[in-house]
Amino acid sequence: MPTTSEFERVLRDAHLRVTRPRLAVLAAVEAHPHADTDSVLGVVRTSLPGVSHQAVYDVLRALADAGLVRRIQPRGSVARYESRVGDNHHHVVCRSCGTIADVDCAVGDIPCLSAADDRGFAIDEAEVIYWGACPACRAASRSRMADDASHGTGAAQDLKTPRHEPSMDDETSSSTTSPTGDGPT
Ligand SMILES: [Zn+2]
Ligand SMILES: [Zn+2]
Repeated sequence: MPTTSEFERVLRDAHLRVTRPRLAVLAAVEAHPHADTDSVLGVVRTSLPGVSHQAVYDVLRALADAGLVRRIQPRGSVARYESRVGDNHHHVVCRSCGTIADVDCAVGDIPCLSAADDRGFAIDEAEVIYWGACPACRAASRSRMADDASHGTGAAQDLKTPRHEPSMDDETSSSTTSPTGDGPT
């Protein structure tokens, strides 16, 4: 966890004036990766009780514009912020509870920025979001399944195989019906 003086240097290096809200927001985002604006506000208010939602929102935008924090917004989620910037890492998101985790790129250092065909664009970001189920939700659904299994097999029986299957039966039945049934006599 960087110290306040390190956050001050980070702000100066980015040519941003050092203010207490900016320092507090930087520290909050560092301590709580992928926090949304309200969560950042809650953390900031523990050290700066009077700070407004708008002030935190403005600071987050300024820090994001300066490249000090990265803003991500998975589908169905509000914007979230993190201090891990510059490596263009990816994210994995749980469909059930919305938990977000960092994942490094599958290939290379600056993930996926070498598009197969850049279409003439100067590409500076590739946004990849993996979707799935987080370990906690997987464990919860496994224990639910174990529960269901212990309550008998009635539900499973209803999911019987579809009526029509392309099986041996079809082949034999069609070959026995077609050549013989023709003609009225
Ligand atoms: Zn989950
Ligand atoms: Zn991240």
